[in-house]
Amino acid sequence: MITLMPLPFAADALAPHISAETFAYHHGKHFAAYVTKTNELIAGTDDADADLETIVDNADEADNVALFDAAGQAWNHGFFWASLAAPPSDMPSDARPGGGLAEAMARDFGGFDAMAAQFVKTGTAQFGSGWVWLVSDADGALSICSTHDALPVWVEQPVMPLLVCDVWEHAYYLDWRNDRGAFLKAFMGDLANWRHAEAQFAAAIADDGGWQYPV
Ligand code: MN
Repeated sequence: MITLMPLPFAADALAPHISAETFAYHHGKHFAAYVTKTNELIAGTDDADADLETIVDNADEADNVALFDAAGQAWNHGFFWASLAAPPSDMPSDARPGGGLAEAMARDFGGFDAMAAQFVKTGTAQFGSGWVWLVSDADGALSICSTHDALPVWVEQPVMPLLVCDVWEHAYYLDWRNDRGAFLKAFMGDLANWRHAEAQFAAAIADDGGWQYPV
């Protein structure tokens, strides 16, 4: 059984960029439904006690589309909640990455602003439902990409996700209507959890012989 990850902040902490009403539906209905569906589909199977990454991988291997979609979305949403933080108030540095991640960003994109612009452009260009990701390879090379529907980025690419933003319409329509680009700019400008991304980056380049997907 997988558990319903609680929001790591108060439901109104990201307003007005993402409202409590959006979280009531996005976390309380959409995400909860993916977790419930995953648990229904693994009950009584070999995956009943598996961790979520293993469930996703096994569903992919078995071409079990219903389970892959539910488990993939459960994973993506957990990672999305971890990718969000309340807008910084008294600590402006919270709004930007630091340390090795900032250095890698300067090397691979030319700086934070260029990275953010590419993230917004990639997420805006994603046709239909999906996810936009900032990822690192094992050597610390950064890139931005999008995936369709329920696909976690690590299923088909040997990369560690650092941050993700949900670009399904349910993620932004109540607050931003059709303006996905404005939602993505708010994510990059005020909401991205750079402490989470820094920890993911450190894990990506750690010489521990394996990939990890901590949420
Ligand atoms: Mn969603």
